[in-house]
Amino acid sequence: MVDIKNVVVVGAGQMGHGIAQMALMANYKVTLVDIKDEFINNGYTKIKEGMEKLEAKGSLPGGKSTSDFMANCKKTTDLASAVKDADIMIEAVIEKMDVKKQVFNTCGQNAPEHCILASNTSTMSITDIGKDSGRPDKCIGMHFFNPVPLMRLIEVIYSSNSSDNSVEKGIKFAESIPCLRGKRYIAKVLKDRPGFICNRITAPVQIYQNYVFDQCLEEGKSWDQLDNDSAGGAMSMTVLADFVGIDVLYHGQMYYSQTLSPDFKPGKVITQLYNEGNLGAKTGQGFRDWSKGRPEPDKSAGKARIYKMKYPIAIMLNEACRVLEEGITTSWQIIDNTLMAGMNMPGPMAANVKNSDKQVEVLNELVELTGKQYLKPCELLKSGKWVDMK
Ligand code: NAD
Repeated sequence: MVDIKNVVVVGAGQMGHGIAQMALMANYKVTLVDIKDEFINNGYTKIKEGMEKLEAKGSLPGGKSTSDFMANCKKTTDLASAVKDADIMIEAVIEKMDVKKQVFNTCGQNAPEHCILASNTSTMSITDIGKDSGRPDKCIGMHFFNPVPLMRLIEVIYSSNSSDNSVEKGIKFAESIPCLRGKRYIAKVLKDRPGFICNRITAPVQIYQNYVFDQCLEEGKSWDQLDNDSAGGAMSMTVLADFVGIDVLYHGQMYYSQTLSPDFKPGKVITQLYNEGNLGAKTGQGFRDWSKGRPEPDKSAGKARIYKMKYPIAIMLNEACRVLEEGITTSWQIIDNTLMAGMNMPGPMAANVKNSDKQVEVLNELVELTGKQYLKPCELLKSGKWVDMK
C-alpha cells in the first residue's frame, strides 16, 4: 500500500468495475461513480460476483470474505462529493474527450490538492484530458487491459505536464493492485503518444490486415480460405476481427489515421461492414455469422495464399523501433515485456536481435506490395542500433 487510502473509480462499465474490484482486493476504500444508479448497481453486482467466484475457490487474499471487501465499497452518482476525500481518481468513462474533460474538471475543483487524477483512456491525449483541470501536473494516464483482474499490464503514462512525483505515485499504486494471473507488470510510458506502447506496436499490423481483406475480396477468395492462411492461432483472422468488433477497429483506425498516418484509414471491407452495421459478434453478423455462437472456419476450403505471417512480425519490430526513436520508452526489453503482459504474446525484439537486416528487406518488399509508405523501415531499424537499447 502507498499513501493512498481512498480511491474513486468513475465509470462502472467493463473497465471501471474491474479496476474497482481489484482496488478493493488491495484493501483500498473505493467509491464507484456513474451517471445512473442502474449503471452503478450493475457494476457493483459484477464486482461482488467476481469476488464470490474467487471466494468459492478460496482465492480471496488475506483470508477475507466478499462481504469484508464489499464493506469498503461505496457507490454514488455525485462525483463532486465522491472525490472530497479522494487520494486518487481513476476515470474509466466512455471514450469521449468532452466527457473525460468534464470528469477531470469536476475532480480538479472538488478533490483535495494532493489527489492524483488518472485516465484509463485507450486512445486520447492525457495532456488534453487534464489541461483544464487546474492541476495538470497531477494528471496521468493509467491504462489497464481487459479483463482487468487477468491482464497483468498497466501502462502509467506521462502527459506533457505530469510531474515525476505524480507518475511515481501512480506507479506505486498500480504495483499494489493484484492480478489473478501472476505479478503485475507496470510499464512507464514517457511520452503521451497515440496507442502508448502496447496498442501502438500492434496498430500498424491493421494496415496490412486491411490490405489482406481487400485483396481477398478483389481476388474473389473466401474468408474461409483467408482464415486458413493464418491457421494455428487461437482465433483466425476474420473471427478475431468480429470478436474485437468492426466498430472498434474502424474507430481505432480512423483515430490513428488522424494522429499517425493516413495509411491507417479503414479499408474497403472494414468500411463496408461498418456502414452496414455488421459489427461482428455483438450484432450477430460481421465477416461471419455468429447467430449460432463462435463460427468455425471451414478447413477444407483450402488457402487464399494472401496473408503471410512474416509481415506482421516485421511491422511490429519496425513500430517498436519508432517507439524507441520517439522516446516513449528507452529499452527494447521493456517493449517485449509490455507486449507479453498486455497481449500474452512475445514481443518482436528479442527474436530479431540477429535478424534486423532481414526485417528491413521484408518491410521494403511489403511497401512494394501494398504501396503503404508508413510501413517503410524507420531509421533506427535500418541502422540496427536499437539492439544496443536494452
Ligand atoms: P463501458 O461503456 O463499459 O463503460 C463506460 C461507463 O462510463 C458506462 O457505465 C457509462 O455509463 C459511464 N459514464 C459515461 N459518462 C459518465 C460520466 N460523465 N460520469 C460517470 N460515468 C460515466 O466502457 P469501457 O469498455 O469500460 O471503457 C471505459 C474506458 O476504458 C474508455 O476510455 C476505454 O477506451 C478504456 N479502455 C477500454 C478497454 C476495453 O477493452 N474495454 C481497455 C482499455 C481501456
